[in-house]
Amino acid sequence: MTRAVGIDLGTTNSEVAIVENGQARVLPGEDGDLILPSCVGFSETGKLLVGREALRQYEAAPERTVKSIKRWMGTDHKTLLGDREYLPHEISAIILRSLKQRAETALAESIAQAVITVPAYFTDAQRQATKTAGEIAGFEVLQIINEPTAAAIAYDLRSEETERVLVYDLGGGTFDVSVVEITGEVTEVLASHGNNRLGGDDFDRRLQLHLKELFRKQHGMDVPDDPVTNARLLRTAEQAKIDLSTHAFTTVREAFLGSKGKTALHLEAEIARTDFENLIHPLLDETLEAIDRALSDATLQPDDLDRIILVGGSTRIPLIQHMIESHLGQAPTDGIQPDLCVALGASLQAGVLVGEAVDAILVDVVPHSLGIAAAMSTPMGIVPGFFSVVVPRNSVIPVSRSEVYSTLFDSQETVEIEVFQGENPIAEENVPLGSFKVEDLPSQPAGSVQVEVHFDFDLNGILTVTATEKGKGQQGSLIVSNTGVHRLSSHEISQARADLEALFEQDEAIESSASDSPIVTLSPELSVLVDRARTLADSLDDEQADELQDLLDQIEAVAEGNSDEDLEVLQSELEDFLYYASREN
Ligand code: AMP
Repeated sequence: MTRAVGIDLGTTNSEVAIVENGQARVLPGEDGDLILPSCVGFSETGKLLVGREALRQYEAAPERTVKSIKRWMGTDHKTLLGDREYLPHEISAIILRSLKQRAETALAESIAQAVITVPAYFTDAQRQATKTAGEIAGFEVLQIINEPTAAAIAYDLRSEETERVLVYDLGGGTFDVSVVEITGEVTEVLASHGNNRLGGDDFDRRLQLHLKELFRKQHGMDVPDDPVTNARLLRTAEQAKIDLSTHAFTTVREAFLGSKGKTALHLEAEIARTDFENLIHPLLDETLEAIDRALSDATLQPDDLDRIILVGGSTRIPLIQHMIESHLGQAPTDGIQPDLCVALGASLQAGVLVGEAVDAILVDVVPHSLGIAAAMSTPMGIVPGFFSVVVPRNSVIPVSRSEVYSTLFDSQETVEIEVFQGENPIAEENVPLGSFKVEDLPSQPAGSVQVEVHFDFDLNGILTVTATEKGKGQQGSLIVSNTGVHRLSSHEISQARADLEALFEQDEAIESSASDSPIVTLSPELSVLVDRARTLADSLDDEQADELQDLLDQIEAVAEGNSDEDLEVLQSELEDFLYYASREN
C-alpha cells in the first residue's frame, strides 16, 4: 500500500503530516522544524530557497523573495523572482515540492499522494489552482478539503450525532471563522467570515512600533528607518510576542540599533503581557465581530454551538482564548497544537482514503492541576492557604504558564513557594510536590514586590517551577520528576469532559430544584391522616378510591415541591373524606 500525506498549505506556514500505525504526526524538516514558512526566493547566486532560508532574506532582498502567495491563488498575478515571472500556483508548487521532499527524506520512501487543505471560502478557481500546484509538485491530489473540516477531523468529531462547531483560525496573516455542522463523515460549512489581512504579523508590527517608541523615550531619537533595522526589530517583536504567551513579562534586548556620536545605542526594555494585550485588543475585537456575523449567517446563537476549536499559531495567545470564552460563554476545546491540527486532520483524511486504519490523535496531558499555595483577599480579609492553579488539569504538554503574585507584608524578606498538584481549592488538601524560597526581597510595602512564578511541564513529565522577583531578579526553583503523564486520545478527552459536564449539570439540576422549590415535609398530623387513608383504601368502592388517590397525589405533589396547592386546604379535605368514608364503611 502506498502511503499518502496530508498538507496544510498555509499563507504564512505550511506543514506535512502522515499517519503511521494509526497515529497522525507532522514530519520535521532536516533542521527538526515541523513548520515550513510559506516563503520562496532565490539567493544572490540563483539558488532556490524555500522556507526559513527564504524568509531570512525577505527583508533584505524582497525582489528575490515572495511570501503569502496563497492570497493570489486562482488569479493570474505574476511575481518576478530573479529573471523569471511566476504564477501563484507555480510558487505554491515549489512549496509543495519542498514538503514532498521533506516527507520522503523523513520516511525514507517515495510519496506520491496527498490531501491538501484550503480555506472554506476558496472559490472553485482557487481550489483548482491548489490542485494544479499539487500536481505540478508531483502529487496525485486525492482530495482538496476545507481547513475547518480538517481541524474537525483532527479533533475526532466524527460522531453519529450532529455537532455544530465554530472553528476560529488566526494564523500569521489571515483570519477565518467558520461555523460547521458535522455528522459522521460529512462536514458542512454553514457560514464563514474573516479578514485575509489580519493575523499575527499585525501583532508583530504593533509591538515593533511600541519598541521604536521605547527606544525614542530611552535615547531621545528615532531608530534608523532602514530595512535591516526594521527586520531586526520585527523579529525581536515576534519573539517577545511568543514569549508573552507563556510569560507575564519578557525582556527585549537589541544591541547597536543606532548611534549618537561615537556611542552605540541599544534597546533594553521589559514588556508586560498586559502592555502587549492593550496593543492588540482592538484587532481582536474585530475577530469577535466576525464570529457574530458568522453565527448570524448560520442563524445560530452561541448556545447552539457544541464546541469551539482554535486553529493557527496566533490562537496560543492567552488573551484570545479568554476573549472567545467570555464572548461565547464556552471555553474552546484544546488538545492539539493549533498550528498543526489542520495538517494532522488532512493526514487522517489521506489515511482513510488509502485504506489505512486510523486512530484518534493521542495527546499527552497534565493529569492533575498544578499550582501553589497563595493567600487570597476575601470579604473576611486576607486568607492564606488557597490553591492557586497555574497549569490546569488536562492541559496539553509541553506546557509553560506563569502567574504573578505580590508580597503580603511590609518589608517582607522571603516568600515560600509551596507547589501542589490536585483539584481541591484548599492547598493542603492536595498532593505536595515540594517547596522552595526566594530570599532577599527588596524592602518595600506589602503588595509592591512582585514575584513571577513560572511552571514548565515538559514532554517527559518533568515539572520545573521557577520564581523570580521582578525588581532585583532574585530567583528560586524546584524540579519535580514524578508528576506522571497520562496519554488520552482527543476523543477520550471530549468524553471525559462531557462526563464532567453531565455531572455538573446533574448537580445544578439538583441544586436548582432544591432552591427553586424547597421540599415540604408533611406535618405530623397530616402524615398520620395519610397513613390512615392508605389503610382504608382497600375497603373503598372504586369512585371513593379514585377520589382518595387524587387527594393523596395532590398532597404528594405539594410535598415534592411540584404544586402550589395549599396544604392546609388539602389536609381539611382529607379529614372530611376520612370522616365520611369511615361513617359509610
Ligand atoms: P500559522 O500561520 O498558523 O502557522 O501561525 C503563524 C503565526 O502564529 C505567526 O504570526 C506566529 O508568530 C504566531 N505564533 C506562533 N506561536 C505563537 C505563540 N506561542 N504565541 C503567539 N503567537 C504565536
